Amino acid sequence: MAAQETDDHKYVYDFSEGNKDLKDLLGGKGANLAEMTNLGLPVPPGFTITTEACQAYLATGREPDGLAGQIEAHLQALEREMGKRLGDPGDPLLVSVRSGAKFSMPGMMETVLNVGLNDQSVVGLAAQAGQNDRFAWDSYRRLIQMFGKTVCEVPGEEFEHALDEVKSARGTQNDLDLDADDLRGLVDAYKKIFVKHTGREFPQQPREQLDLAIRAVFESWNAERAVLYRRQERIPADLGTAVNVVTMVFGNLGPDSGTGVAFTRDPGSGAQGIYGDYLANAQGEDVVAGIRNTVPLQELERLDKSSYDELLSIMARLEEHYRDLCDIEFTIERGKLWMLQTRVGKRTAAAAFVIAGQLVDEGLIDEDEALHRVNGAQLAQLMFPRFELDHEFEAVATGIGASPGAASGAVVFTSARAVELAAEGKSVILVRRETNPDDLNGMIAAQGILTSRGGKTSHAAVVARGMGKTCVSGADEIDVNVPAKRFTVAGRTVTEGDVVSIDGTTGKVYLGEVPVMPSEVVQYFEGSLDAEHVDNPLVRAVHRIMTHADGKRRLTVRTNADTGADAARARRFGAEGIGLCRTEHMFLGDRRELVERLILARAPGEREAALAALLPLQRADFEEIFREMDGLPVTVRLIDPPLHEFLPPLEQLAVNVAVAQERGEDVAKEEALLAAVRRMHEENPMLGLRGVRLGLVIPGLFAMQVRAIAEAAVAVVRAGGVARPEIMVPLVGAVQELETVRAEAEKIIAEVVGDSGVEVLIGTMIEVPRAALTAGQIAEAAEFFSFGTNDLTQMGWGFSRDDVEGAFFWRYLELGIFGISPFESIDRDGVGRLIRIAAEEGRAARPGLKLGICGEHGGDPDSVHFFHEVGLDYVSCSPFRVPVARLEAGRAAVETDGSDSR
Ligand code: PEP
Ligand code: MG
Repeated sequence: MAAQETDDHKYVYDFSEGNKDLKDLLGGKGANLAEMTNLGLPVPPGFTITTEACQAYLATGREPDGLAGQIEAHLQALEREMGKRLGDPGDPLLVSVRSGAKFSMPGMMETVLNVGLNDQSVVGLAAQAGQNDRFAWDSYRRLIQMFGKTVCEVPGEEFEHALDEVKSARGTQNDLDLDADDLRGLVDAYKKIFVKHTGREFPQQPREQLDLAIRAVFESWNAERAVLYRRQERIPADLGTAVNVVTMVFGNLGPDSGTGVAFTRDPGSGAQGIYGDYLANAQGEDVVAGIRNTVPLQELERLDKSSYDELLSIMARLEEHYRDLCDIEFTIERGKLWMLQTRVGKRTAAAAFVIAGQLVDEGLIDEDEALHRVNGAQLAQLMFPRFELDHEFEAVATGIGASPGAASGAVVFTSARAVELAAEGKSVILVRRETNPDDLNGMIAAQGILTSRGGKTSHAAVVARGMGKTCVSGADEIDVNVPAKRFTVAGRTVTEGDVVSIDGTTGKVYLGEVPVMPSEVVQYFEGSLDAEHVDNPLVRAVHRIMTHADGKRRLTVRTNADTGADAARARRFGAEGIGLCRTEHMFLGDRRELVERLILARAPGEREAALAALLPLQRADFEEIFREMDGLPVTVRLIDPPLHEFLPPLEQLAVNVAVAQERGEDVAKEEALLAAVRRMHEENPMLGLRGVRLGLVIPGLFAMQVRAIAEAAVAVVRAGGVARPEIMVPLVGAVQELETVRAEAEKIIAEVVGDSGVEVLIGTMIEVPRAALTAGQIAEAAEFFSFGTNDLTQMGWGFSRDDVEGAFFWRYLELGIFGISPFESIDRDGVGRLIRIAAEEGRAARPGLKLGICGEHGGDPDSVHFFHEVGLDYVSCSPFRVPVARLEAGRAAVETDGSDSR
């Protein structure tokens, strides 16, 4: 950092000085512009101001020393190269000032185009553009608009309004119908708006425009929507943005000019081929904002064959160079093609798998790299259901399937309403003509997004795909009226609150709620689709990558399951055993009464009778599970939650008793129950009489469970199966607790198992911090540890797991105290440290001690990587997460460099 304080620290890089690996410093856009420049591709000359300069500016509120001089030097070099001066009245050099962070944040930060235009140079520009006054004045009005909004916070609607007024005076809806005089008038109107809001004239000095624009881009890193997007995408808050100053090229110089966005493969399905949108006679932001409807890129072949051919050859070159799907922004200025941006393109989850498989086939990457190119979050998305359609459902409109998935919900028209209804637990579809970055909150809250305008590269489409949200864009049969909170389609009116369904794969829109069907990927995992024989590129790619992950991973993946059905499903999903069979649900339903008797037992023999009645029921439960998991280990956890959970709620009971007493009824039994419930009432039940504490307090309870487990195992083995039970004691904090339970359990097991050959392991959860810190002692009495990261997080942080997420986590997330809830993804530094200590000290005391994790974190991608690093033997997660954990365990095994695959 010391170098940053000196004047000679390098803050500005010419495009010829950078390369694609300098994303930290030059941002994604700058690094890739440099890469393309060095590949000899047609990139408009320019330079990049580093993220370090931005960080320094944001930390101190002023440009770091030396920056202004370096910008000047690079500007002069650029002027020499172009043979023009910035804002020269006769032949102005114009530049764009563009943000570009390390990770792409589409539309979240600012851009100012046409910097260098003023009252004089607009005339020079017109002359240079072949006396094209219209073009020059249009460029100038765009500068004032963007500069006003971005740099000086002039409300954007004021400019929009002024533009609409000119258009309606002209009787048109199309910008292109405005002539030079209209636009000259608009510049005057814009200038007045500027003065009204800023108290000063629009700056005429080109260099001042440039400096202010650069500063505004720096500041846009902390704009509200950018902060929100970063949080959503888990992008660190301290990276800052680079700023690219690029020579302007114009796509709006007439019909032989235009601008477009292209992908080297279909980012929706992964299919090979040319894919993109083109808009003639327009500037780049017109395409991204979805303001005018684009034509498919293939049309360009007809419009400008030589640019089209050149573009295709550049696309092929970029794919080979980046060894991945690239997305590209380009402009054609009077028949000359310019590359404005490229990057490894965002893609849907399905496309990620399909493309990774294709690239292996094409010899561009190997299978380890393919594994690196996909992730568990994408796989989870592919396991979402899709619509089940039959003749009853007819689409009322078809737009563009911009982000796949199926979503039904109540229609809302504003971001705020989406947030409101989502907070009430409702599923909503945000319907807009087009979205803009201010809609981000609503897009996060909504189940799906439906727009009537814009293509696959519109804001709505790009952002939804990034979020994995269902989106249909450009459904132009829909006429959206936001102020009236309704849309009309096919002669019908849909108002706020009505339910619609949208299919982000086909682009179809349905009225009402459409039932959904499971994904093909789930069918493949369940074994009903055979990847070797099915002609489905996605299923084949998933199969290939999963097979590779399974071959590479060191972690075993088990499941949390407490019914035979869950166990069977998880096994089909690849579970290699049960890591947590919670036994508490087995005490509910029609067994409640027995449990009540057990808890309330007063008379001699009453408790024993209740336990004796529960024993065969429990044995049957375990037999079913052992049979489903034949040959695989099954960890059964002895009962854990506080006993009052099995009794009626205190308040309700008190009211019932009072009412019955009032009526003079016999309430002796209810009173006894009420007294027991009162006796057992706890202020902090999660920290009270539960887990091993219960087992030590209620005689015979754990013993009954141990006997049921052992007897079930023997029965399965006698029937020719293989049962591998592991008995797990919950909430242990001291070795003495475990020793006491163990001594009793061992006696029962020895008695039941006899010569059946059944082997029963006894181990413990590590979920109380004290257990983690005394793991060396506890390991003496445990054959395995399983980390209960739910409780370990609760007790490690002192966060009540049932309360805090709703109560105040939003504020902690806002303040960046953590980037994600520690109940969702493991807190590596704190709770993770407890796990490391316990793993190390446990294994030191008992070499070969089996280590697993069965909290919710077992199915969280990032946490799986952590458990791999710590050297656990297995993770256990809910059945649906099993494939995700398998994939991530494979990725963790091949990703030794810890590189980021975002
Ligand atoms: C845990 O605490 O992580 C755990 C798996 O147990 P439960 O969630 O049942 O408390
Ligand atoms: Mg627990």
